[in-house]
Amino acid sequence: AENQVINFSPGPAKLPAEVLEQAQKELMNYNNTGVSVMELSHRSADFTKIITRTEDNLRKLLNIPDNYKVLFLQGGGTGQFSAVPLNLLSHKPDLAADYIVTGSWSAKAAQEAQKYGKIHQVVPKPSTYTEIPDSITWNLNPNASYVYYCANETIHGVEFQYIPDTGDVPLVVDMSSNILTRNVDITKFGAIFAGAQKNIGCAGVTLVIIRDDLIGHALPICPIIFDFKVQCGNNSLYNTPPTYSIYIMGLVFEWILARGGVSAMERAAITKSSAVYDLIEDSQGFYVCPLNKDCRSRMNVPVRIGAPNGDEALERKFLEEAEKNRLISLKGHRSVGGLRISLYNAVSVEETQVLVNFMKDFMARHR
Ligand code: PMP
Repeated sequence: AENQVINFSPGPAKLPAEVLEQAQKELMNYNNTGVSVMELSHRSADFTKIITRTEDNLRKLLNIPDNYKVLFLQGGGTGQFSAVPLNLLSHKPDLAADYIVTGSWSAKAAQEAQKYGKIHQVVPKPSTYTEIPDSITWNLNPNASYVYYCANETIHGVEFQYIPDTGDVPLVVDMSSNILTRNVDITKFGAIFAGAQKNIGCAGVTLVIIRDDLIGHALPICPIIFDFKVQCGNNSLYNTPPTYSIYIMGLVFEWILARGGVSAMERAAITKSSAVYDLIEDSQGFYVCPLNKDCRSRMNVPVRIGAPNGDEALERKFLEEAEKNRLISLKGHRSVGGLRISLYNAVSVEETQVLVNFMKDFMARHR
């Protein structure tokens, strides 16, 4: 179509066309109710089916054991920066937590948590977020209530390729930008959270997956809508949940299941990100990714053109030309500069190849 673009946005990000088409088809009359999902009571039979099916499909996709609860909350990833300490700090007497800070999002989470407890940094603060210090150097506190990390730093492109081992201390992870893009063993975590607007839907709903023994320890000052025990006891319906966002998330889960589940998403993520990283490596310094190879994200690839600090005029030209070629939302985060290529599940291998071809062509014309 005339307005067709390829959207490499870091988030809110591309949704599968099939999901949008299904939503469009059902927009005016959902399941013969005569109304849209937006207009259904959150306590109606139809919406109950939507939220139940969405949870069941997530459990299937991630192989979530029965002793883990699934919550659909509001407040975004940022809401969880508060909800996590408010719910989990007091599960041990010291009100202490360890934070592994590897980029802006984990830094923000640690800063927010300081309002509520003793927050300890596990790794020294780096001058740039381009690596994950070796875990043998980590300074973990055995009395911490939990250890927190961000599985994929969306801005800096730092992604853990492994799950940290924290022994008996529960591990809490922000998976906002890589959930359902790689297989993970849920039993390694105390809690997982993820905003929807990158890999799993539209903004407005935040997933929380939490082991049941960690529920019920909220600090008295915890706002009731963030109290995991209250939300869990009410199946995420203590108050009106973000119904339409939950519905869209459900459609995305069905789309992933129909395409082979998380393993298929992971294979595609490896293919897509390898195509981009291989081009960067082969570009002899024209394109530069500043990250250590062992923590390069499959989801968000930060790129500078013209090493080491980027030729800003050339980067602007790249973005302009990309846009003319209908390759959009490739600008790096304002705190990092350069480009950022986001390759979430809805971006196909073919679309990624179109971008890689454009990058090759741009390099040939401008080097
Ligand atoms: N964590 C990560 C990894 C993110 O990428 C973001 C948003 N880009 C957030 C947390 C914050 O999410 P929200 O904007 O939904 O509060």
